[in-house]
Amino acid sequence: MKKNDWLLAAGIILAAVLILAFQLVQDDGGQKEVAVTVDGEEFGRYSLAEDQRIDIGGTNLLVIENGEAKMEWADCPDQICVNHRAVSRDGESIICLPNKVAVSVCGGDEPELDGVAR
Ligand SMILES: [Zn+2]
Repeated sequence: MKKNDWLLAAGIILAAVLILAFQLVQDDGGQKEVAVTVDGEEFGRYSLAEDQRIDIGGTNLLVIENGEAKMEWADCPDQICVNHRAVSRDGESIICLPNKVAVSVCGGDEPELDGVAR
């Protein structure tokens, strides 16, 4: 390729990245997150927009990557949660019955009620 072609390609990639970044920023209001509960108690909430690894009480390891959450590792005997496909849509969940761990995706569209009721 000629030098100009490279510049054009670089420009297109840069534009695509900027658009993507812009969309991510815009999405902030309706950001999706996963709610993790252990034995019915809320363990924590984590944004799906951020790649992260969450150690759930040392029994389960949740990984959030590319806007999806999946159970990377668990010490439960059935491994159903580990074999569950990654979740990313509102209402989807991964349940680990032996460890009483539940991971569910929340749309983030509902109004933020944190700090009101507690
Ligand atoms: Zn499990």
